[in-house]
Amino acid sequence: MKEQLEGIRRRALAELSDHATAEAIEAVRVRVLGRSGELTEIMRGLRDLAPAERPLVGKLVNEIKSEVESRIAALQTNLRGRELERSLGEAKLDVTLPGMKIPRGRIHPVTQVIEEMLDILGEMGFEVEYTQDVEDDFHNFAALNFAPDHPARDTQDTFFLPGGLLLRTHTSNGQIRVLERRRPPLAVVCPGGCYRRDDPSVRASPAFNQIEGFMIDRHGRITMSHLKGVLTEFANSFYGETPVRFRSSFFPFTEPSAELDIHCLLCAGAGCPVCKHSGWTEVLGCGMIHPNVLRAVKLDPAEYQGFAFGMGVERTALMKLGIDDMRLFFENDLRFLAQFPSVNGGVR
Ligand SMILES: [Zn+2]
Repeated sequence: MKEQLEGIRRRALAELSDHATAEAIEAVRVRVLGRSGELTEIMRGLRDLAPAERPLVGKLVNEIKSEVESRIAALQTNLRGRELERSLGEAKLDVTLPGMKIPRGRIHPVTQVIEEMLDILGEMGFEVEYTQDVEDDFHNFAALNFAPDHPARDTQDTFFLPGGLLLRTHTSNGQIRVLERRRPPLAVVCPGGCYRRDDPSVRASPAFNQIEGFMIDRHGRITMSHLKGVLTEFANSFYGETPVRFRSSFFPFTEPSAELDIHCLLCAGAGCPVCKHSGWTEVLGCGMIHPNVLRAVKLDPAEYQGFAFGMGVERTALMKLGIDDMRLFFENDLRFLAQFPSVNGGVR
């Protein structure tokens, strides 16, 4: 019996070498220590032995059992350590691998055009003020000398909101908002979103951007000549040297009123379908601020005088970028937007 037990011990320890695999270790555990393993069977047969032999065999079985158990535990700890080391080695940081490319956004072409316009006007001394998109009738219409029955007040044209409010139809409300807070002399531009009940099309959108500008000082100090000088300078800075013309027009909030045309950028004045063969393109509306507008903000028209202008950003951007459909600006198609790293050609 003793020889049999020593045989079990030798075989088990020989198989539990330092290089034993997890499967080999488990096989030894089951064969020696398992429910019907070699040692278990011997313990079961203990009662058939001579009473004097039983304690000796029992002691030896327990010795072998704990020896095999502790050997298995040591090998398993060792195995887990080697496994951890291997996985750490595989995950090692390789600083020579190429970096991950993080995609970068771009400034939207419409925003680029706004920034370029504001840069030019800022250099000419205009401050930037932002005013609200949600307005009341007074600041969007009445104070700007719109007659009570003016068609722009129609629900066909304007988005009305509950509580007598509306979405501003132009940035001209900026004139009223700023002049309620500040007194002349001042030169201010108000960029921002405007809203009209237009169906989206090649040349129109229900939401669009405008830049309103105005310059006011004591009567006689700001004249139509200043208006022409400032806007001609602006057109030449923004569009490049190009012939301009001021054409008489009408707006409720200016008197006299004019529109500024530049030579069509596509045909350079020769005439093409885009400019309807006139050779000219309208770029903005302007005029001397109407005395009623000054009165609405409690300025005496006999004391103060100034000019104002307003231009649509998207239409300007269409011309400047040579695009023929305004909807492209709002569809957020990255294949389109990614074509405009910067209007200036540089990187911001
Ligand atoms: Zn043309």
